[in-house]
Amino acid sequence: MDIIMLVLGMASIGFGLAAFVISLIENEKSAAYRFLIVFLSIGSLFLFLSFSDTDVLMIVKLAIIMMTCVLLLLFLLPVGQKRAWKQQMPSLRIDERHTMFSRNELIPGTEAFESYYSEHPEKKALDDLFRSKAGLLKAESSLYHPLQFAAADASFETIATMKSQVNGAVAEKQVDCNPQEITTFLKGWIKKLGAISCGVTELKPYHLYEVGGRADRRNVTISNDHKYALAFTVEMSKEMVDAAPSGSIVMESAQQYLDSGIIAIQVAAFIRSLGYEARAHIDGNYEVVCPLVAKDAGLGEIGRMGLLMTPSLGPRVRIAVVTTSLPILKDESYHDYSMIDFCEGCKKCADACPSQAISFEPRENIDGVSRWQINQEACFTFWCTVGTDCGRCMSVCPYSHPDNWLHGLVRFGIRNSSAFRPMALKLDDIFYGRKPKPREAPQWTQPKNLQ
Ligand code: SF4
Ligand code: SF4
Repeated sequence: MDIIMLVLGMASIGFGLAAFVISLIENEKSAAYRFLIVFLSIGSLFLFLSFSDTDVLMIVKLAIIMMTCVLLLLFLLPVGQKRAWKQQMPSLRIDERHTMFSRNELIPGTEAFESYYSEHPEKKALDDLFRSKAGLLKAESSLYHPLQFAAADASFETIATMKSQVNGAVAEKQVDCNPQEITTFLKGWIKKLGAISCGVTELKPYHLYEVGGRADRRNVTISNDHKYALAFTVEMSKEMVDAAPSGSIVMESAQQYLDSGIIAIQVAAFIRSLGYEARAHIDGNYEVVCPLVAKDAGLGEIGRMGLLMTPSLGPRVRIAVVTTSLPILKDESYHDYSMIDFCEGCKKCADACPSQAISFEPRENIDGVSRWQINQEACFTFWCTVGTDCGRCMSVCPYSHPDNWLHGLVRFGIRNSSAFRPMALKLDDIFYGRKPKPREAPQWTQPKNLQ
């Protein structure tokens, strides 16, 4: 028994030290010291017990060993991984004109403005509210920062210059491609270009917006007869996201829209040069609803905050899509019951949301699909108040921790065992805080001597 206590003590101290170092690297100073204190204390107690052998302490040792076995079983036993599951497909297509970005483009006094609100008078008061605020990236907004906002603006402007590149002429000569080989090539190349994950789905009607809502696509019925869609994700920097809702979040969002957009345009151009149709779907120029495509391409689940939750980085990603007629091999749609189950109990994003836009309730049936829906008007009104795209929900989500062995271990437990999920949530609250405060944006983004 003493040997077991000795091993447990050493393991606890070793784990505490490793978690301390990793947390310091992640710039999680409070978590680092909590790991150190908790695991060093437990480890020292175990070591002390391993060298003492009174009768009373024998009982304590036995109790500790049994408790450790129970905890290990809770972590390792595969319980509640799966529930009977049937793929749910929305029967309706989303009208892009109802999205906040589209409504934000309506200018009072124009025909488009009058026509939209005469057809949808119920949206007028909600939209008057966000219009009464300063607006995205505006100098009057409460979190205005001249450099951070200008940097984000510059990225969005660069994306706008890429608009004409999303589609183009297809080479006359078609290269005969083996579907397996070209799929492997595309996925390998997309990751080499900077993506974290990449998958393929057949393009389905509900992936496509019904009617366009942005710029010259407003009121245009969307039709796209490509058979396949390639979806991929790029990582958003943790340190930029952790300062959300300050200006670093919108800098990072814009940067990753740009980076993913460049990859999508490059890949679409490549496919067209092989003699097949291909269109890139990038920020401000989507024909598809990216999270729905990405889920069906096997990249993640849709969580409580309505974003794609990837297995390794949670919602801390941006998505781009290429639709194409090139025959490629499709992946299985993603379904991870453990994520949904974890979201059911977690609600950390809902607690942290400054506009109370995220539901605390269980999923609802919306258009034949069980899911959560955020209050997009409340969220967007907050964006227009602070001037950034907020991202507080993304920042606090336990799945947003970096992809390393420490968080990988917890993710394994969450996937593996429903009994471990509430424990993982409690541990996240203890070590990282239930409502963690926004961090400082990286120093280089906020020089002190601005005029
Ligand atoms: S914060 Fe919690 S509830 Fe919200 S999406 Fe992440 S895991 Fe789900
Ligand atoms: S982005 Fe901000 S306001 Fe919008 S849902 Fe997330 S936390 Fe709430």
